[in-house]
Amino acid sequence: MKKILFASDLDNTLIHSYQKKSESDICTEYYQEREQSFISPEAAALFRNVIKQKNICFLPVTTRTIAQYQRIFFPDNFRPEFALAANGCILLKQDVPEQEWLAESQEKILADIPEFQRLEKIFLKDHRFRHVAFADSMFLACACETAQTAELCLKEYTVLTSLPGFRTGRKLYFFSPGSDKGTALKKFAAFWQPDIIIAAGDSEIDLPMLKQADIAVFRESQTDFAAYVLKFVLNTAL
Ligand SMILES: [Mg+2]
Repeated sequence: MKKILFASDLDNTLIHSYQKKSESDICTEYYQEREQSFISPEAAALFRNVIKQKNICFLPVTTRTIAQYQRIFFPDNFRPEFALAANGCILLKQDVPEQEWLAESQEKILADIPEFQRLEKIFLKDHRFRHVAFADSMFLACACETAQTAELCLKEYTVLTSLPGFRTGRKLYFFSPGSDKGTALKKFAAFWQPDIIIAAGDSEIDLPMLKQADIAVFRESQTDFAAYVLKFVLNTAL
């Protein structure tokens, strides 16, 4: 039986926000006592089937911080054995950061810390940013009021810094070069030794991870992308 590593982005890949919620969707996250993210009943049923397969390792690969990741509850309260948070800078093993991985990530971003601090100071004074954080002390995460404002800010600041910047919706991220999902997936795969890597994602931030996979599933226009991805994983595994 082939060992399958199923590396998946979370937001807008397996789960979605209230903006895209259908009536029957199941809540997967609460934030400040409000329902925050969801999964469709079909995707939830497929997910239960995926995690039952002994030859599949489901590896969430997310830009969420540890705290944001830990707010998510998967169907049947399943907790993945491993997860990559903070865009791959942090490996969680049973929800606890793996210390060697953490130390290597800290070492890798060390030279960029002055630049993170410089940008953070500028962003905090820029009224277009509603939220600025040095997330898990690994990267800058910012949010604007609208996607259009975020796009404008990205264009302006990209030319003012050596750090690669990305936008998803109204959120902006600045990472250290090499702090990407692809580098993290490659490192995890070297340790877990799968026969096949399937990766799924929906945004530019996911591209390095998709490039590391044997099979990449990228969101185009599927209305229930999560169900599509999970069906694909099951068809490959069974
Ligand atoms: Mg996403």
